[in-house]
Amino acid sequence: MSDSSQLRYYRKNRDDINRKRDLYRQTPKGKAAMMWTNITARAENRNGTNPQYTYVKVLMTREEFIEWAVKELEKFSVLDNLSIDRKQNDGHYEISNLQLLSLDDNRRKQGKNYFAPSGYVWCSKCKDYLLENKFHKNSTSVSGFQSFCKECRHERRKIHSR
Ligand SMILES: [Zn+2]
Repeated sequence: MSDSSQLRYYRKNRDDINRKRDLYRQTPKGKAAMMWTNITARAENRNGTNPQYTYVKVLMTREEFIEWAVKELEKFSVLDNLSIDRKQNDGHYEISNLQLLSLDDNRRKQGKNYFAPSGYVWCSKCKDYLLENKFHKNSTSVSGFQSFCKECRHERRKIHSR
């Protein structure tokens, strides 16, 4: 074999391997395995860039997770858009705290207002739930209100105009 045909051979094999891996990830078993890899990477915070994950623990074995996830994933025909979600965002990775969510819903859920008691809104500055009437409305946000309460907004404007 000449150098270039050898190269072609390896390139073709690599594509085959990638294609097989992609196909495997579209099966419940393959998707579950990938999810497990992501969970452990996150919980171990390997690259140290995610301070919010510092205290998150994995309280289940790989086998327990795979068994649960495969059963859940089998309920769906398309797996691409599904992600693992912790029902309580500040809880650990354990079966009782897990559910499958579409990536969009998962992203939306990162907002504190997902858990806001009715009539209350989370102020990102006060770090507390305050009554709705303490906020200006914002129709483009998930909660329907601005993320800072009126008082915090007022503070901010004063600082910015100095
Ligand atoms: Zn506030």
